Amino acid sequence: MTHTDQPGDVANQDDGRAPSCDVDGAVKAPVPLEGIRGAVTGKAPLAKHVWFKTGGAADWLFEPADLDDLMTFMERMDDSLPVMALGLGSNLIIRDGGVPGVVVKLGKPFARAEVTGDCELTCGAGASGILVASTARDAGIARLEFLRGIPGTVGGFVRMNGGAYGREVADILIDCRVIMPDGALVTLPASDLRYSYRHSALPDGAIVVSARFKGTPGDPADIGAEMDRIAAAREESQPLRTKTGGSTFKNPEGTSAWKLVDEAGFRGFKHKGAQVSEKHTNFLLNTGSATSTAIEELGEMIRDKVFAETGVCLEWEIQRVGRP
Ligand SMILES: Cc1cc2nc3c(=O)[nH]c(=O)nc-3n(C[C@H](O)[C@H](O)[C@H](O)COP(=O)(O)OP(=O)(O)OC[C@H]3O[C@@H](n4cnc5c(N)ncnc54)[C@H](O)[C@@H]3O)c2cc1C
Repeated sequence: MTHTDQPGDVANQDDGRAPSCDVDGAVKAPVPLEGIRGAVTGKAPLAKHVWFKTGGAADWLFEPADLDDLMTFMERMDDSLPVMALGLGSNLIIRDGGVPGVVVKLGKPFARAEVTGDCELTCGAGASGILVASTARDAGIARLEFLRGIPGTVGGFVRMNGGAYGREVADILIDCRVIMPDGALVTLPASDLRYSYRHSALPDGAIVVSARFKGTPGDPADIGAEMDRIAAAREESQPLRTKTGGSTFKNPEGTSAWKLVDEAGFRGFKHKGAQVSEKHTNFLLNTGSATSTAIEELGEMIRDKVFAETGVCLEWEIQRVGRP
């Protein structure tokens, strides 16, 4: 399977269209648009941009043409307007009332990965995990194989400290370039992100635009074999070709979230079109007709029952954003 086969892999299906400003005439644009080359869309439905395929619209969606375009836009933006980056929406519930302010989607112009040093890759924030892992494999760079198993972008897994199969982004990140909420472009070393399990200290509204990763020398054939093993293991254990949001809850200290959900009797449980996966009980699914509200309600039902029965308070791993 190539990365283009993954459901929700929106950035890699970008049609490369000429930048345009598709502005809702009734509403004032979030910034003066003169010279802005990317697409600016008012009341932009976001469901098609996220794996769950649910949720409302962004007040504004900005798809920058390149880094300069993004910087110009951010410099012009009023500080009081909220801004949020969107990757492939593989760890996201967009609430049904939509997202206030501006959602910035880094697509094809940011989907690059290249070798820039000794066992070092520099990757645009829109590059998918599989693109990064494949580029590392072709260059004989090991330790990045686990990114093959994370169906999001560099921006998403740098923020989330994405991890799998015993490794996480904290182990391989050298530094990242970030546009801060005030529009300043800064380079943050990995230590500044104060990584912990599926968490970074990146401020809300900060947008990762690129990242440098470090691996170790390896044989491309061995690296490729490890990536294949990871792909097969995921295929067997996760509901990949479904409308989902990845792991719903963080694993609590000393146990697995899926086990607690399973023991609370939720395997396959349905609620208003949302369902707990039969295959992996830490995955919630949209079976077709669910709203984001229904998915979130199901998650809260699980949290309540698990807490009542075990005293363990499950913490959401999926990011939930927007107005209810
Ligand atoms: C089938 C499946 C399997 C998964 N398996 C794993 C796994 O093994 N390990 C794992 O860690 N995760 C896994 N996930 C979850 C998900 O892929 C990761 O969390 C991934 O890092 C999210 O990336 P994204 O680009 O899709 O981010 P999104 O879902 O679009 O966003 C997630 C968060 O990151 C922020 N963000 C996105 N881009 C940027 C940016 N450029 N700058 C700043 N912030 C940004 C968003 O604002 C949001 O807060 C899985 C998901 C699915 C659907």
